[in-house]
Amino acid sequence: MTAGLSTAQAVNAYSYLSHLECGRCKKQYGAEALHGTCECGSPLLARYDLNGAKTALTPRALSSRPCRLWRYHELLPVRAETNVVSLGEAMTPLLELNRLAEESGVRALHLKDEGALPTGTFKARGAAVGVSRACELGARRIAMPTNGNAGSAWAAYAARAGRECLVLMPRAAQSICAIECTVAGAHLGVVNGTLSHAAAIIRKLAAESDWYDVTTLREPYRIEGKKTIGYEIFEQFGWRVPDVILCPCGGGVAIIGIHKALAECKAVGLLQEKKVPRLVAVQSTACAPIPRAWAKRSSEAEEWTNPGTTLAFGTLVPKPLGDFLILEALYDTDGCAVAVDEQEIIAAQRAIGSREGVFVCPEGAATFAACKRLRADGWIRPTDEVVLLSTGTGLKYPNSVSEAPPVIDVDNPGRILDLWTR
Ligand SMILES: *Cc1c(COP(=O)(O)O)cnc(C)c1O
Ligand SMILES: [Zn+2]
Repeated sequence: MTAGLSTAQAVNAYSYLSHLECGRCKKQYGAEALHGTCECGSPLLARYDLNGAKTALTPRALSSRPCRLWRYHELLPVRAETNVVSLGEAMTPLLELNRLAEESGVRALHLKDEGALPTGTFKARGAAVGVSRACELGARRIAMPTNGNAGSAWAAYAARAGRECLVLMPRAAQSICAIECTVAGAHLGVVNGTLSHAAAIIRKLAAESDWYDVTTLREPYRIEGKKTIGYEIFEQFGWRVPDVILCPCGGGVAIIGIHKALAECKAVGLLQEKKVPRLVAVQSTACAPIPRAWAKRSSEAEEWTNPGTTLAFGTLVPKPLGDFLILEALYDTDGCAVAVDEQEIIAAQRAIGSREGVFVCPEGAATFAACKRLRADGWIRPTDEVVLLSTGTGLKYPNSVSEAPPVIDVDNPGRILDLWTR
């Protein structure tokens, strides 16, 4: 493979994509063919002509562009605007949580609310860019294993692109995601095993046919979509960085993406300050390979055997393919990793809902639980500006609440009215 390093990019190109580079062994690949992982088995990362992009992607140029993720197109991989597959993925709100900030004893607490994206989670960012680029490079049909939300998003974008999509999910996955896949016309299978079993079946299928395997970090472009969370946060801060960003972590695409966004924004001059945000990976105690590896200062995670169950199913990944990149993001930014339990997640979800009015997904709620823990032990300081990444809407998790409201006897409402009118 030849890397397109010396390719003279056209001035004002839609994309300044230059080549692909292995995140581990640094081997380079040309970007104009469909690729999976590097021959060493690790994820490939998209690299850009950052000098070229620097003159085009300025705060000024951005200020007149529509508020959607494609506003950063110079540093996204799609070559031609006509190949963009879109469901109107708008820039998501960065909400100030003033009440919770005061209660938690931090200077500022912000919630990056990804629930408004198509299919209700930030998986839409990865799918928008991943499907667009796969189609641009000629993929006829795509296949993937999923815990649920990625399947919903990729099925929807594949339908939008007019391509076939095959999704395999564990039986334990959320039924709403299965419903979304069906409505999007995907081929959907439920495996009587785990996500890893589903992934192995997809790999075999892709090796033997023309299904393109778009499993997390097995194709290079999902991360390019997800890194736009970082671009948006920095832009919404007025091209500054907060002190701490807490991210739920499953496959780690968001955290790796935000770390990549940080490096790229600095390289093209969008971010001029030296400061970096400390990145925090948050997992459930049901499956916490990253906090365990971080505690030992390891550069890789060991597989978490026998993962338990959690409402925050998006974080249930026993051995992420990009574990070394996740840990690198934590060490490089002086960040850390935290595991929170089910009770803390549910309490945090209720706190954000009742104190601030946002119904966040359990994965997003986990970041607030982690924030409280880190504030209590002093890792987060009272002067810190903190961002919580809520990766999706709670509306996709109808079993977040188990208690039933009281039933009011219409013939005798006295007692309960007594209670509420006191
Ligand atoms: C997939 C998912 C996660 C985990 O994201 P990664 O980028 O794979 O670490 C977190 N929250 C939700 C809602 C998800 O769907
Ligand atoms: Zn490699």
